[in-house]
Amino acid sequence: MTKPLYQGENTGWKLENTYAKLPETLYTRMNPQPVSSPKLVVLNKPLAEVLGIKPEALESEEGIAVLAGNRIPEGAEAIAQAYAGHQFGHFTMLGDGRAVLLGEQLTPEGKRMDIQLKGSGQTPYSRQGDGRAALGPMLREYIISEAMHSLGIPTSRSLAVVTTGEPVFREKRLTGAILTRVASSHLRVGTFQYAAKWDDLESLKKLADYAWDRHFHDEDPGGNRYLSLLREAVKKQAELIAKWQLSGFVHGVMNTDNMAISGETIDYGPCAFMDTYHPSTVFSAIDYYGRYAYGNQPSIAGWNLSRFAETLLPLIHQEEKKAIGKAQEVLAEYSSLFRSYWLDGFRKKLGIMEEAAADVKLIEDLLHVMEKKEMDFTNTFRELTLRSMETAKNFQEKQEREETKNPEFEKWLQGWKKRIADQKKPAEEIAGLMKKSNPSIIPRNHRVEETLRAAVKQQDYRVMEELLKALADPYAYTSDQEKYAQLPPKMDTPYQTFCGT
Ligand code: AMP
Ligand code: MG
Repeated sequence: MTKPLYQGENTGWKLENTYAKLPETLYTRMNPQPVSSPKLVVLNKPLAEVLGIKPEALESEEGIAVLAGNRIPEGAEAIAQAYAGHQFGHFTMLGDGRAVLLGEQLTPEGKRMDIQLKGSGQTPYSRQGDGRAALGPMLREYIISEAMHSLGIPTSRSLAVVTTGEPVFREKRLTGAILTRVASSHLRVGTFQYAAKWDDLESLKKLADYAWDRHFHDEDPGGNRYLSLLREAVKKQAELIAKWQLSGFVHGVMNTDNMAISGETIDYGPCAFMDTYHPSTVFSAIDYYGRYAYGNQPSIAGWNLSRFAETLLPLIHQEEKKAIGKAQEVLAEYSSLFRSYWLDGFRKKLGIMEEAAADVKLIEDLLHVMEKKEMDFTNTFRELTLRSMETAKNFQEKQEREETKNPEFEKWLQGWKKRIADQKKPAEEIAGLMKKSNPSIIPRNHRVEETLRAAVKQQDYRVMEELLKALADPYAYTSDQEKYAQLPPKMDTPYQTFCGT
């Protein structure tokens, strides 16, 4: 039998749940469904330290029981959150169908971080689903979210994965698992859509005030706090999507329920990093029309923000027309903000320190050549960085590097070299900027798959440990990272990903 409450003295757990003080329409109180024999398979010790939780405590039997949802630490108030969402453009009532939020961990640094168990059993929002998750996808979320964090891209994080000892049934029988997800909150655009749907202005206002206090309390609320909430969310999203574009990340399912107000990447399903650059890159098996293709991400985020703005209208102004006018002004800032983050990021990737109008063309020309010549996104910038590092070290440019058999790229290189030289900046400085702006490695799909095969099929986690170690410092440019920079073997069919698995 389960003994839900876990006192957890001297373990570092310091939970409370402020979300559970919001109106009860926004969630359902419920404990995770217990599992038969949980086993810890990955633990993120550095993250545990950041959270102020002792890693040894999480590795203990009691600690594992918490990560499996069999015990509830003191201070937690387990809930499943309700939300709605536009899924591929269609509005649906959703909610945590396979997750439970234990509460917020108060970290030693004074931050408040959501602790959520994903794969923790059915909830009132499960619809047809079993409420469970399979090991492979949970490990995949762990690897990619942690890689994103190390790349410097705002993201939810992964504290641990436990196997449940119970199978889950998809097309076949799979190992069941639970991921402990950590995020600065799980407030989604869809959370606001859900609240707005009930026509209960008081609840909506409480939710909006909560979001403001939780994420933006350091900002100036100006004359209209709800308009400011929209403005801050717009800024965060513009910054986030620029970072995705700069690293070749394709989220894959940018439904409004999968967009966090905090500006963190959330809900890793069919996401993947692209190898060969092409704006129409899609990995998700169900994204038939490429709605969430790499090149569409900036405009889709804008679309999602408009849905967010709609929910806030009655709070922005009681006269709808005035509210729309004000919201539109803020929404209009999104494209230029995105563009400036994007441009600034690409300048850094190319080692450009001071702005010039011609940079846009330089960047767009490169992307054009990359697309035409089917060049690898990450490795193109890696290659440029390696060149800048060699120049900085006064090496003769290596002959073999020049042999790209790509005259169009060569031509572009000449223009870039001139642009860099004209800056009259020390070569070391340029190389330094490029090194910290261009990752040497990303979680390449073939490496992630190799890792998952070893872990799931052979219970061999060494391959994963090695990959995680390399991905923890993606800007290191060390020789032991070389293997992760290798391109995937040529395949007959494109790499495909699946969500909700
Ligand atoms: P996602 O595509 O992961 O963003 O999930 C969309 C919705 O489906 C969310 O409400 C999830 O909680 C729900 N969901 C996904 N998988 C399951 C599952 N196995 N059981 C119940 N609900 C699920
Ligand atoms: Mg989701």
